[in-house]
Amino acid sequence: MKEKQKALEEIERLFELAKKTVKKDAEKARRYVKKARRKAMKVKVSLRKYKKNFCKKCNSYLIPGYNCKVRINKGVLSIKCLECGSYRRYKLKA
Ligand SMILES: [Zn+2]
Repeated sequence: MKEKQKALEEIERLFELAKKTVKKDAEKARRYVKKARRKAMKVKVSLRKYKKNFCKKCNSYLIPGYNCKVRINKGVLSIKCLECGSYRRYKLKA
């Protein structure tokens, strides 16, 4: 349990770093995201909190209007990663 908590803190730190880095060095930010994802997998924690903040395909840290496009249409939120062009859709709760 303690291990998990530690991992969560580390993940939060990594996403924070990615956020700060992405505009300066997108490649470095990707590495932070990758590291966070690997860590999450290892300790089996969910990245639900962050799932809209990164691209699952290319690991880019996503900032709306900067490297991703966010659109809401008929209760569906779609996020397009401008780095790799992949789309993701989320149903919004009514
Ligand atoms: Zn992408």
